Amino acid sequence: MDITIVDAPEHERVVEFKDESLGLLGYVAIHSTQRGPAAGGVRMRPYSHPAEALKDALRLARGMTYKNAAADLPLGGGKAVIIGDPQLDKTPELMQAFGRVVQSLNGQYWTAEDMGMTPTDMAYIGSTTEFVAGLADGEFASGDPSPITARGIFNAIRVTAKHRFGRAGLDGLTVSVQGLGHVGEHLCQLLHDAGAKLIVTDIDAQQTARIARRFSAQAVAPDAIYGVKADIFAPCAIGGILNETSIPLLQVGAVAGGANNQLASDQDAQLLHERGILYAPDFVANGGGIVNVATEILQVAEREAFVGRRLQALEQTMDRILTRARAEDVSPHNVAEAIVHETLRAQAA
Ligand code: NAD
Repeated sequence: MDITIVDAPEHERVVEFKDESLGLLGYVAIHSTQRGPAAGGVRMRPYSHPAEALKDALRLARGMTYKNAAADLPLGGGKAVIIGDPQLDKTPELMQAFGRVVQSLNGQYWTAEDMGMTPTDMAYIGSTTEFVAGLADGEFASGDPSPITARGIFNAIRVTAKHRFGRAGLDGLTVSVQGLGHVGEHLCQLLHDAGAKLIVTDIDAQQTARIARRFSAQAVAPDAIYGVKADIFAPCAIGGILNETSIPLLQVGAVAGGANNQLASDQDAQLLHERGILYAPDFVANGGGIVNVATEILQVAEREAFVGRRLQALEQTMDRILTRARAEDVSPHNVAEAIVHETLRAQAA
């Protein structure tokens, strides 16, 4: 196994790992350990070029610094990527070799599940490193984070509704939900229980039909979700869906959902702002997932109390962001980034 340092001026430490005999190639990017060990999942994708994989790792690691700081966790930001098709190229040996890479970083980076990974993979990784979270079994195992992620998004939607519509609850409001997977389904349950009307979609038509039946929701085709009339749009599928094509179609007062990197670019936050659509920054709205993972990394004994406190802190942070955005007449996305910078600067001083 070759582990070599990659030059990346904005990151604390970036390594490339390569084992030709196993077909393993990837990167670990540690953006910041200022608040604590860098934490962020490992993603496996058939990137077309190593430079594309490196770029993704750098961007995602930076995002984790923001997400962990916004959730007030004593964790920094990091991420790992492995180049390959998770369906075809993943083997137990590959996972174990990746675990050895994580171990070689001596606890500066904690890994967990991300796209293309499963709890079984985490168990293989955990056979060669102690710095892995998202395990299904064990004293502090945190398991599937999506129910906690959904609770955080639900809170974000409530706060957003308060700011945008002056409403204390969600009863009678219509929420359109894109993506009905692990997070989306839990979120639909919470919204339904709170009296919201739902419009739902997924590229899996059977899943859409099942969820529509379960929550008496209106089902629409995947491309139609952008044009439906609703109070709040909750993206819970993929990134980059708020862009110059989709934003002009939106007929909602606000966007608050759980997908990572919803904005295709920073300018899209401005586009939403100009259209009067209130945007709840995704890395604050979906911080429940990393809160759940943190209970394992930090070996939290009083898990439910810890999760409750951190979800409440996230809700207060969202409230602060939306209040300041209104006062300054700017996008909440800009305020969220500024608040994280201020937190990190204050801590460094
Ligand atoms: P998932 O894979 O379980 O579900 C995603 C769903 O979106 C799938 O049902 C898929 O068919 C659907 N989908 C994909 N493309 C679509 C499209 N174009 N239109 C409509 N539906 C589409 O994933 P998940 O764990 O529910 O995560 C959803 C999002 O939330 C992702 O962006 C993820 O990064 C983010 N997130 C998840 C967690 C977590 O705890 N799972 C935490 C933080 C952020």
